Amino acid sequence: MTTLELVNISKKFQSQPVLTDVNLKVGNGEFVSLLGPSGSGKSTIFHLIGGLYLPDQGSIRLDDQEINGQKGSISYMPQTSSLFPWRTVLENVMLGAELHQKPDKQRAQEMLQRAGLHAYSEAYPHELSGGMRQRVAFVRSMLSPQSFLCLDEPFSALDEFTRLDMQKWLLSIWEEERPSVLFVTHNIEEAIFLSDRILVLGAKPAQVKAEFTVDFARPRKEEVMLTTGFLQLKKDIYQTLRGELDD
Ligand code: ADP
Ligand code: MG
Repeated sequence: MTTLELVNISKKFQSQPVLTDVNLKVGNGEFVSLLGPSGSGKSTIFHLIGGLYLPDQGSIRLDDQEINGQKGSISYMPQTSSLFPWRTVLENVMLGAELHQKPDKQRAQEMLQRAGLHAYSEAYPHELSGGMRQRVAFVRSMLSPQSFLCLDEPFSALDEFTRLDMQKWLLSIWEEERPSVLFVTHNIEEAIFLSDRILVLGAKPAQVKAEFTVDFARPRKEEVMLTTGFLQLKKDIYQTLRGELDD
């Protein structure tokens, strides 16, 4: 059981409000995306959840326990690869687990296999492509003992084709393991393809302005992106975001 809730979260930087009364909830095993323009405060929300910053106001709750300012409660995968260059792929993915408990090398090898990285377990990050490095970082998040995953635009630095492959790969792993996920992106299609629910962040100071439920069947297939239902939802979300930018 892992649920996350943000209740009336506000945050200012040097008296500049960035978030005002942000409320959101991620249910057990749910995949929720946070969609907003760049600079709207998405990463700040993750830094608050990760305990790097304290909110000025409000409560961050993991399984009904307040975790304001507590580091290490969730597993966080940042926008660009955070792999240690001097560690091999296998050593990198076992790191999260190592900090807390005895690492399970067999499970790490299995996950690397499913990520198509088995042949690279002894390789170093600089020997891998960008997409492979992000897969390594994701495997590390999956192996860490915290069961709530926060993924911050993990594919935004990848080209369109690699990105789609990574989305399909992420879905296949997620659909088997069903961790609770909060996924940040500024890409509408990516949010629709992956999520159960999409929260749209408004312009500064950010608030959750709209919520969309995505009820396309799972396991999800790439073909869903070409259906009228998908395109209609994309249009609705686009107009909501546009409205925000024009305000
Ligand atoms: P996003 O991830 O949506 O692109 P961020 O959360 O990174 O947006 O940033 C939101 C706003 O908060 C930006 O205007 C950014 O400059 C500001 N900000 C973020 N972190 C800090 C910080 N540590 N100090 C001052 N301003 C910050
Ligand atoms: Mg960001």
